Amino acid sequence: MTETKSLLDAAAGQSDWIATTLRDLVLIESPSDDKPSVDLAMAFAAGLAAPLGGRIKLHKQKRFGDILELRFGPARSRREPILLLGHLDTVWPLGTLKTMPWREREGRFFGPGVFDMKAGVTMALAAIRALGQVSRPITLLLNSDEEVGSPVSRPITERLALASSAVLVLEPAQGLACKTARKGIADYRLHVTGVAAHSGVDFARGHSAILELARLLQTVAGFTEPRLGRTVNPGVISGGTRSNVVAQDAYAEIDVRIAKAADAARVERLFRGLRCADPHCTLEVTGGLNRPPMERKPGTVALYKRARKLAAELGFDLDEAATGGGSDGNFTAALGIPTLDGLGAVGEGAHATHESVVIDHLVPRTALLAALLASI
Ligand SMILES: [Zn+2]
Repeated sequence: MTETKSLLDAAAGQSDWIATTLRDLVLIESPSDDKPSVDLAMAFAAGLAAPLGGRIKLHKQKRFGDILELRFGPARSRREPILLLGHLDTVWPLGTLKTMPWREREGRFFGPGVFDMKAGVTMALAAIRALGQVSRPITLLLNSDEEVGSPVSRPITERLALASSAVLVLEPAQGLACKTARKGIADYRLHVTGVAAHSGVDFARGHSAILELARLLQTVAGFTEPRLGRTVNPGVISGGTRSNVVAQDAYAEIDVRIAKAADAARVERLFRGLRCADPHCTLEVTGGLNRPPMERKPGTVALYKRARKLAAELGFDLDEAATGGGSDGNFTAALGIPTLDGLGAVGEGAHATHESVVIDHLVPRTALLAALLASI
């Protein structure tokens, strides 16, 4: 208890460091699709870790920014590491700072990526600084491709998670709560090929891909099943060339969220079972499950209870929440590794122009991270 309280003082001592480091990190814009910029953000983070005794391993990438693996604590230990999981890529294109500058106003820090999740990464490093001497192995993994589905970091995340006793995910909190469940995400693409024709001269010869796709999307909309926590959203639709041409091609991109891993196979069957009503049209279905759901399993609940107790000692309530959004925690939880998510900043507006973090919560939650690292 007193030890936990002393971590609050130690974290408070990091408060200026957190503010300046977070500012510097936000000023390095780092959209997922711009490798040189993400590499710069990674180099900056590596530079912060070095004075803390962090051992740096860069997983080089061609298409995306390099992935940064940092190891703290004893190099040899019988104890399995705790994996701190974060990402430094953002959804914001280069130049966003012109319209969304870094600023402090009404007790908040604003800027692109500040909430999702440069604050979380800063807090993790500040927690390690607050601990001073780290007696147990800690791995901090910073991914470069999370906002585009983690195509290249996933195997690295999974390998490191399997070697760890627990995973603490530095994604933003949900309100004031951490996250013990996340939905899984599947992406499907429907491509209908019809028969093109002149809409005036040859109308009867045409078979419209657009009309066929519209019919199929009615069926797809029916796949939503609130009782199972399943939602199906056709978010992108496109097709045809001109209004006087019967459309030869049409496609749709569909986002599916599932609450239970067992639902993935049912969803897959539903999509693969789609058929065109017009025999002259053909349908190609591609895609599938991207992130498995993070279900509320006993290992995660135990981790949450510990975090809740430590938070109480630090003077705040920590609730748990479930969210429809995915993170890299989905991968580690699905492997059966106890995973607690949403341990980063409190704020609002992820992926939105009012993205911001509440300054007063940065220190207590940094202390919570430090307390978790010291006690798991
Ligand atoms: Zn994120």
